[in-house]
Amino acid sequence: MAQPLTRIGLAGLAVMGQNLALNIADKGFPISVYNRTTSKVDETVERAKQEGNLPLYGFHDPEAFVNSIKKPRVIIMLVKAGAPVDQTIKTLSGFLEKGDCIIDGGNEWYENTERREKEVAELGLLYLGMGVSGGEEGARRGPSMMPGGSFEAYKYIEDILLKVAAQVPDSGPCVTYIGKGGSGNFVKMIHNGIEYGDMQLIAEAYDVLKSVGKLTNEELQSAFTEWNKGELLSFLIEITADIFGIKDDKGDGYLVDKVLDKTGMKGTGKWTVQQAAELSVAAPTIEASLDARFLSGLKDERVEAAKVFKAGGFGDILTDQTVDKKQLIDDVRKALYAAKICSYAQGMNLIRAKSAEKGWDLALGELARIWKGGCIIRAIFLDRIKQAYDRNPNLANLLVDPDFAKEIIDRQGAWRRVVCLAVNSGISIPGMSASLAYFDTYRRDRLPANLVQAQRDYFGAHTYERVDIEGSYHTEWFKLA
Ligand code: NAP
Repeated sequence: MAQPLTRIGLAGLAVMGQNLALNIADKGFPISVYNRTTSKVDETVERAKQEGNLPLYGFHDPEAFVNSIKKPRVIIMLVKAGAPVDQTIKTLSGFLEKGDCIIDGGNEWYENTERREKEVAELGLLYLGMGVSGGEEGARRGPSMMPGGSFEAYKYIEDILLKVAAQVPDSGPCVTYIGKGGSGNFVKMIHNGIEYGDMQLIAEAYDVLKSVGKLTNEELQSAFTEWNKGELLSFLIEITADIFGIKDDKGDGYLVDKVLDKTGMKGTGKWTVQQAAELSVAAPTIEASLDARFLSGLKDERVEAAKVFKAGGFGDILTDQTVDKKQLIDDVRKALYAAKICSYAQGMNLIRAKSAEKGWDLALGELARIWKGGCIIRAIFLDRIKQAYDRNPNLANLLVDPDFAKEIIDRQGAWRRVVCLAVNSGISIPGMSASLAYFDTYRRDRLPANLVQAQRDYFGAHTYERVDIEGSYHTEWFKLA
């Protein structure tokens, strides 16, 4: 008997594709799967059997794969971003028909999605660029998904996405139609930039508590576990607490102390920072997080530099002051929360600026809602962001939302104490201090920018405006000096 047509197809069966395909099958949607290297197809079919005879069907041949899907066909691709996506479209599109739809679920550069949407439109195909967040576990159990592009294509598979996404009580499934063009990929990219910021801020909290506060891994675990019961409750704080408790299986002590201090990256953080410059939107916390990864990569140079400065009398920690651990833990918690507000303000402003440039009309509060489950930055804090944009969809900056403003004011004393303590101790906290500088710059009605503008006019006749009289002015400063 011929196999019945499936509802959807998925091409690309590495970590994300394999798990998302199983998730879709698990939710009762029969799915066809394909991968360039066929052993992964067999592996996925085997997993589907073992995980409860899920309705998943494997194909080694792309034509048979396409023909096994019910029309209009929908195929999700989860392959490496860039050329592999073009290659996969080329492989499949020859067998697709007018009205069929291709979805790229990878971390793709949004302009590539816009180019492909136009290219496949010439074949009568619809296209979506859909950011998927949550890693392996999210893909299998319920990710956060950010589909953008053809609304018609979104409607074809809305029922599947609503079931497959992470489900958050009172907030619903972590998926929504993001907007036109490459907006889904763009929003996912900023999500990743925000993730860089969150991870860096947490690492700085750890450094201050460990290096200055001399907390042990047990004490760190207990502090983070406690933090995870309040305003910082989030996936990243939760897994950080877990990490501090894991013993080294290859030697004595804790595994975290054996991990090389060199952070990897795949590119979405760099794209976010490039976009910040492109859009002229300040994103210093996210930029500091990226720079911290670059500097961490210079391990050999840092080891040599440490020797030079140790020879010059510089220890690793510049002061050896006794701190009240309980007070420090409380201060660092507040500093981390306040710095996080600034980091999210930057990310949301990047999305808003791009949305205005491209006419995407993105709903910022709705984005906060779909990040509440499934994804790496999921946190109780996102509720507050959603509420802030519900109160005022045109909010200029999260910092001036009355609730966030109050929270920052309440925490700024602790935040400044932590930054001063770290600076005096020679512990770099680029994310927390960048956030503080962002706040202190944004909240002041007069900045020293008047002097920079005067200098520009002095040497370059760039003109300036005055605070008291309308118009544009130039002064021949050198004649008056
Ligand atoms: P990946 O390592 O990024 O990519 C491997 C997949 O791409 C395999 O199926 C591979 O096929 C296919 N591929 C590579 N070059 C190809 C080519 N020239 N033609 C056809 N297929 C090609 O896989 P992943 O980690 O599962 O990620 C998939 C996408 O999701 C990526 O865009 C990634 O950035 C994004 N993402 C990943 C995560 C994560 O936690 N891993 C989280 C969110 C988003 P073969 O088996 O034949 O080599």
